[in-house]
This record gives sequence, structure tokens and C-alpha cells, in this order.
Amino acid sequence: MEKRVALFPGSFDPFTKGHYDIVERGLKLFDEIIIAIGYNSSKQTRYFAIDEMVESINGSFTNEPRVSVITYSELTATLAQRLGARYLLRGLRNTTDFEYENSVSQVNRYLYPELETVFLITSPSYAAINSTIIREVHKYGGDVSEFLPYPLKK
Ligand code: ADP
Repeated sequence: MEKRVALFPGSFDPFTKGHYDIVERGLKLFDEIIIAIGYNSSKQTRYFAIDEMVESINGSFTNEPRVSVITYSELTATLAQRLGARYLLRGLRNTTDFEYENSVSQVNRYLYPELETVFLITSPSYAAINSTIIREVHKYGGDVSEFLPYPLKK
């Protein structure tokens, strides 16, 4: 049987416990998950350095050989096709996520018709975790370690 490979694309600025939860649960559905950090989206500049984020995410999954991390700056659908990933994994927290994800997934399927986006509803304990808020808190010196599945260097 064909290996079920899912791409989990995102900005991951930073990768949070909410993202971690989606990956862990995704592993029950897929043989392999590729976490893909996009760096050429509308979010132009990153707050957390991309190389450090790759290292931190890898460090969170050292015991999980089915998870890998890459960076990309092309269309997500093109990347998925190139990697032989027929599934996109995304998390849904609320109706705002839904509105956005709905149109993105339509476009992705238009670009690569075999591509199915699979949505996992966030676990209640992680529903409030939001990368934007974590960046704000961190910027002003607040402790964000509780929201991240790895220790921050600075
Ligand atoms: P993007 O800029 O592509 O939205 P993000 O890094 O913000 O990238 O999010 C990547 C994916 O993870 C999205 O599908 C988003 O809805 C989901 N996600 C973000 N935070 C959480 C969370 N706390 N629980 C579940 N899913 C989440």
C-alpha cells in the first residue's frame, strides 16, 4: 500500500504545543509527517529565526523517526506534489481559522487535484495558544515556555 505522507505547512513562528498536538494526533492517521516552515508568505519577516526553529522542532521529535522538518519558499501545493505528499495537515481552532482554511484548501486542490487537506480540531487545552500572542509576550520579556514543546535558547 502507498505510504500516507502528510505535509504540515505553516509559519511556525514559533512552533507551539498546539502544533505539536496536531502532529502527535496526525501520526495516528499518517505514516509520515513533514513539517514545512514557509518563509515567503505574507508574513514577511520572522520573529524567531528559521534555522533555530528547525532545530527546536527536530529536538521535540527526536524519538519520532516518522516526523521531519523542512523549510520552503514555493507554493505549498507544488511542494506537496514534489515530495509525494497527498495530504495537507492543518489545525482548526475557531471560525476565523475555518474561513481562511476553507479558501486556502480550495485553491490548493485546484492547483493539485489529488491533494486532500485534513483538518484536526484543536484540543481544548491548546485552543488559546497562538503564535502571534506568544511573539508579543516574548518581545516584552514575558515567559512563554509553558506554550512551547522545547526550551527557548534566549
Ligand atoms: P499559518 O501562517 O500558515 O497559518 P501557523 O504556524 O500560524 O501558520 O499555523 C499552522 C497551522 O497550525 C494552521 O493550520 C493553524 O490553524 C494551526 N494551529 C495554530 N495554532 C494551533 C493550536 N493552538 N491548535 C491547533 N492548531 C493550531
